Amino acid sequence: MFKPAVAQRMSLLHTESAFQILAKAQALEAQGRHIVHMEIGQPDFKTPQNIIDAAYRAMNEGYTGYTPTPGLLPARKAIAEYAARHKSITTNENEVVIVPGGKPVMFYTMLMLVNPGDEVVYPNPSFPIYESCINFAGGVPVPLQLSAENDFRIDLEAFKQLITPKTKLVLINSPSNPTGGVFTREDVLGIADILRDRPDIFILSDEIYDRLIFEGEVFSIASLPGFKDRTIILDGFSKTYAMTGWRLGYGIMHKELAAHMTMLMVNSNSCAAAFSQMAAIEALTGPQTAVDAMRAAFMERRDYLVEALNAIDGIRCCLPKGAFYAFPDISNFGITSEEFASRLLDEAGVAAAHGTAFGAYGEGYLRLSYATSIENIKIAVELIERFTKNL
Ligand code: PLP
Repeated sequence: MFKPAVAQRMSLLHTESAFQILAKAQALEAQGRHIVHMEIGQPDFKTPQNIIDAAYRAMNEGYTGYTPTPGLLPARKAIAEYAARHKSITTNENEVVIVPGGKPVMFYTMLMLVNPGDEVVYPNPSFPIYESCINFAGGVPVPLQLSAENDFRIDLEAFKQLITPKTKLVLINSPSNPTGGVFTREDVLGIADILRDRPDIFILSDEIYDRLIFEGEVFSIASLPGFKDRTIILDGFSKTYAMTGWRLGYGIMHKELAAHMTMLMVNSNSCAAAFSQMAAIEALTGPQTAVDAMRAAFMERRDYLVEALNAIDGIRCCLPKGAFYAFPDISNFGITSEEFASRLLDEAGVAAAHGTAFGAYGEGYLRLSYATSIENIKIAVELIERFTKNL
């Protein structure tokens, strides 16, 4: 077998298991099995038509080449204005870097800020790429446990204990993948209180689901006095506008940091796709009816799914306040979450992600993405119930 001698740093990277589970589910489908997909965090809706039309127009008008590395000026302006409107922060185009998706903002933030040995506090369970990027940058991942007992909100006392002289960066993600938890205003104010006298600590605030809040409010830590300059906001178009394949996201940060992120961009991507950026202007400034309709659909599915899961003997699921994931506790069944998810796929045909795909503290949980039709959700719940009865 060919074993290329790749650089040692490659062993520091880990994958996003949801994609592996999807591949396995597709392989089963290729053998003729019927699979209900609840593993992948991707809206099942088509990108709204006005956004598609704007991209077409842009392509026909010649937006098919390179753009300035941090993004087209009108797109950066539209993002800055949107952030001012929606996140209550004062910003401008010089603080916006447009990148291909939300993920690069994570990767670049770690590369730009984390020195070997620096500690990075991050929620656990959380998006698996956080831990992977921290390791890749040579940082020390410091997990902050989120638990169902606390509605997957932050435990401020525990958080305080994790802050040391070596802390360089704190990651927050609200609404959260995989838990659907939303940090309240008090939570965010509490985080700010703890970090106020440590201006050397940066914050990466992943707000990619902040248009998908069902209970609670949008409250970015960057909107607090003194916090904008040391916060990097991660946001993008994938989830809100059902644009995962357009690869478009952005970071908002102090212009000095923006210059460094632009340097990482020019060394890796040159720029995000020009027509995607033009479509983004339409997404942010055009009608938001499709976004509202998608949110309403997600909420209806959430309500159905969580009630149905709680009706199954042995499963407990708290009500996610945002995003499109349910994170039920399946620890009663006495098998690991990985075995549970794997057997659920093999034996029942339901593809879901095991809790530990999101970190060690995800043990005992399963992540179900309800970015799928209510009909599929109904079938999945029946299959899960039958599966658990046989465990
Ligand atoms: N942040 C979180 C919490 C996510 O769940 C995801 C995608 O699943 C991303 C960022 C990245 O999104 P994108 O597809 O735009 O790179």
